[in-house]
Amino acid sequence: MTGLRDALRRLAAEATEDPRPAAASDTRDLDAAVAALNQAASDTPHWSALSWTPGQPPSRQLRTSGRTASAAVSAIAEETITLFSQDTRHQLRACLAPGCVLYFLKNHPRREWCSAGCGNRARSARHYQRHRQNTA
Ligand SMILES: [Zn+2]
Repeated sequence: MTGLRDALRRLAAEATEDPRPAAASDTRDLDAAVAALNQAASDTPHWSALSWTPGQPPSRQLRTSGRTASAAVSAIAEETITLFSQDTRHQLRACLAPGCVLYFLKNHPRREWCSAGCGNRARSARHYQRHRQNTA
């Protein structure tokens, strides 16, 4: 799982031109990251099943003949392949709030942060910076 996480961080950094040194992946090589992702996606056979109980919203369920945890990792890898192979990868952003190492989908034109907490931290940092410049 650590190998997959490092691979995903490397791919996200590539897609976003991530400038954050603290967010850098241990996996430096793009080919190695792609290979790790593809390996994880194919590790455990899995498929989706629709579940729809009357009166409940329909939901997607993961099925496997292997271990559930391994299938979940393979499903995450497969969803990642979908993300990076479609135009949605252009919505991926590195969160540039102070101290943050996360990524997010810019699914709204005004969205600039991964979370409201990061937005508040970034605004506080800007306010503090302006105040320091005015008093120096
Ligand atoms: Zn953030």
